Parts: sequence; C-alpha cells; structure tokens
Amino acid sequence: MTRFYLTTAIDYANGDPHLGHAYEKVGADAIARYRRLRGDEVHFLIGMDEHGHKVAQAADEEGVPPQQFVDRITGKFQETWRRLAITNDQFIRTTDPAHKAGVRSLIERVFARNPDDLYEKAYEGWYCVGCELFKRDDEIENGKCVLHQTRTLVWTEERNWFFRLTKYQDFVRRLLEERPQFLQPESRRNEILALLDRGLEDISISRARLAWAVPFPRPLSTGEQQGTWVWFDALPNYLTATGYPEPGYERRWPAQLHVIGKDITRLHCVVWPAQLEAAGLPLPERVWAHGFAYFKGERFSKSAGVALDLDEAIARYGPDAFRYFLLREIPFDADGNFTWERFEDRYTADLADAFGNLASRVLAMLERYRGGRVPEVGRSGDLDRAAEACVARYVAAMDGFLLHRGAQAAWDLVSEANAFVERRAPWALAKSGDDAALDATLAALARALVRIAVLSSPFIPAAAARLWDALGLSALPDSRAPSWDWIERPHVAGIQTRRIAPLFPKLERAAI
Ligand SMILES: [Zn+2]
Repeated sequence: MTRFYLTTAIDYANGDPHLGHAYEKVGADAIARYRRLRGDEVHFLIGMDEHGHKVAQAADEEGVPPQQFVDRITGKFQETWRRLAITNDQFIRTTDPAHKAGVRSLIERVFARNPDDLYEKAYEGWYCVGCELFKRDDEIENGKCVLHQTRTLVWTEERNWFFRLTKYQDFVRRLLEERPQFLQPESRRNEILALLDRGLEDISISRARLAWAVPFPRPLSTGEQQGTWVWFDALPNYLTATGYPEPGYERRWPAQLHVIGKDITRLHCVVWPAQLEAAGLPLPERVWAHGFAYFKGERFSKSAGVALDLDEAIARYGPDAFRYFLLREIPFDADGNFTWERFEDRYTADLADAFGNLASRVLAMLERYRGGRVPEVGRSGDLDRAAEACVARYVAAMDGFLLHRGAQAAWDLVSEANAFVERRAPWALAKSGDDAALDATLAALARALVRIAVLSSPFIPAAAARLWDALGLSALPDSRAPSWDWIERPHVAGIQTRRIAPLFPKLERAAI
C-alpha cells in the first residue's frame, strides 16, 4: 500500500472557524477520501495553532487564561469538523506537551548540526501582530501591513535569536527548480521564485515578552529566556505529529502533501524546507496552495453582518450540500465566491434535480419493473463507455488536486445517466413488453449509479453512503463502503436494491 500522509494548515486559535477554514478542511478531506478509495494508506492530520501574541491578546480581552481560551476555541473548531464529516485521523494542538518537546528538540538538532545557523542579534523593525512577522518596506502600505490594513504596526526593538535563512536561498531555489511539483499550482511556485530573486533575509525566531509560547530552548547570552516565534513552533507540527523525535517517526515522515492557503507559501516553501534541511531531515513531497473563498468580497468576518455564518450555511441544506458547493464552485487552484444565490442554484440543479432525482427514479424503476433485483446483463454499452470517459477525467483531476474538475467529472456522469433515462424511456420499454431492452437499460443504469456513488463519495459522503446502502451493496461482504474496485468492475447483476427517500429534498427558496 502507498502511504499518503496529508496535512492542512493548523488553524490559528484567536477566533471562531470561518469559511476559509472550512474550505481548506473540506478540500483536504475530499483528497483524503479519494486517496482511500484508491487504496492508499492515508493518514490525515489537522489541528490548531494555539500560541502567540494574537492568542494571548484575545484571551486577555476576554479576561481568561490563554489555555482556557484556546480550549474553548479548539472545541468549536472540532465540533465544526465533526459536523462537516472531516475524516482526520489525528488532531494536533501546539499546546500538547509532546509537540512542545518536539519543537525544542528540532531547534536543538539545528544547534547540533549547523551551529552557525542560529545566532543572536539586536533588531529593530515594524512588526505586524497579524502576520507575526517583521515587515519589509515593500510590505507596508499607508503605514500598515498590506495584509492587515486594520492593524497597527508596532516598532519593535529587541535582541532575538535569528535563523540564517539566507544560507538556504540556493537550496530552496534548487528545490523549486528540480522538483517543480514541490509547490503547486504553478502560479504559486512563480511567486516564490520571484521572492528568491528579490533576496531572502535572516529571520528572528524568538520573541521577548512572549510568555504564551514554546520556551526557546536556549537563553540569550544576557540570560534572558524568550518564547519561540509562533511559526517556528507551528510549522513543525507536521513533524511532531509523527512522534518526532521519538523513534519510529520515520515511518510516517516525510508528508506526501501539505494543503495550505496561498498566503502562507513563503512559510511552507522557504522557511519550512530550510528549517528541515538545517536539521538534516527529509522534506515533504508536495505543497498545494489553494486560493481563497470569499463572501461579499471578504475573506474573514471583519464586522458583524458581513461574515458568512458557517453554522447557518451548513444547516441550510446539510453538510453534504455545503461540502459539494464549496468544492464545485470554488476552484481548488484559484479564488472563488460563496453566494447564497449560487448555493441555492447548485443545490437545486446539481443535487436535487440531477443527482437526487436520478437515484430516486432509477431505484424506483428497478423496484417497479424487476422487484428491485438488477437484471443479469453483463454486456456494457454506451452509458458504460461514457462512464469510463468520466472516470478518466475524474482521476486526472483528483490526482492533480483539481477538486472542482473532479466534482464536475462525477456530475457529468450523472447528466449522462439522466440523458440515458430519457433516451431509453424504460417506461415505454415496459409498456411495449421488450424485456431484453428493459433489462439492459436497467442494468446499465444500476452500473452507472454504483459508479456515481463511488465518485461522489469524497464530496457528498453521507448521500453516497445512503445510495450505496439502497443499491444493496453495503450488505455484501467486503463492500460496506464505496470502493474503487466497483469503478473497475461494477458487477451489479443480481443485487437487491430498494427505493430511496429523496437524497436532496427541495426546500422552499429562502428569503435572502
Ligand atoms: Zn500583517
């Protein structure tokens, strides 16, 4: 079996989960589910980034200790992921003692292997608490961080530990040139190459007066103990989650895929590889940087009333519909918008009319004309050939993490099957008594439904499972859930199906 260790960015615990968090988790979950379908041994990690100034500030504003604050926020995130049927195998929190020990061990490993890489320096500059980064002049606009126009930059003068990132400039360039798939999509890779052209700077990796942090393993020469910069604590979560530095972590590390947002490629594709190389550890295989999900032109809730209420969006048509909409509507390699109007349209057209209606009518016809039993017709026909073309497009898209195209390929098969029903008109065949033609038609539709249940399962897992069940497959040995074997050999003859209640019932259009 092929190992597939997959991670998402850990979410920063200073507020409630929002659309952007959900989009990334649902996307990574669809990849994890797809890899499992293909037979990979998947390990799917998500988690929370719980340290840093922003968290300490937010806890302070609420008047609670930081640990109590992050416990509550993390609980909310976990509840949301349960609702959205995220199938993570592990959930890491950077306040876990094992993670903190792992971070300190990783830094000590750099001290041991490349002692010149870590050094002390007095530093001054504009610091953005939003980014937890010192900002260069070209990253400042109107006296504020270009990414955080609502936050005030803080002029900061302090003595810190520094990481000699400049030493790894050529290493990172070679990495991106020799392994172009390391960072995808291509546009993101070009951004990092351009950043390298402008030149890297060494980065400060410890902070004075940062109590809510992993203590930096060594004090400054002045004796001052500082906190580890939050990103030097956060990035290693992917490694510490494997048990590092305890023996056996190599069985899982390196990761096959980091799924992240396009705004943190510099950290994942420059700082993280350099940090690992300095420690003499293998690099992850790939980083996929997805775009942003916007709602009314905003990424985050900046003011009340503007934000998409996640709970409301999930409740509107259920978790499957929300998952499907995000992944179909917002390209996984670009930006996109959540709008209630598009959500309503896709729910009605793609889920209720196309998918749900196909499942209902085919299962109803099987019951009406053949008592639910799929006729023994082994020959494949034009619908099977159409299905094979859809499957080929689906595989190409999903292997390349283009989830929106994967969803489209699956729904292309739904359209093909609906058109086949209209073309063959099984009700007319039944009326005319052409039993052989009716058998062939019903068997072809059953094969299509089986394939559709498999292909759609990464997007709408609950509905796919209900369809699987109604097709009588969950009752067969070794077929409890959709599996790829059924794509290649949809051996449906003789299976006992039953009618199904509407998978996506039509609701009255909400007043928006
Ligand atoms: Zn910023």
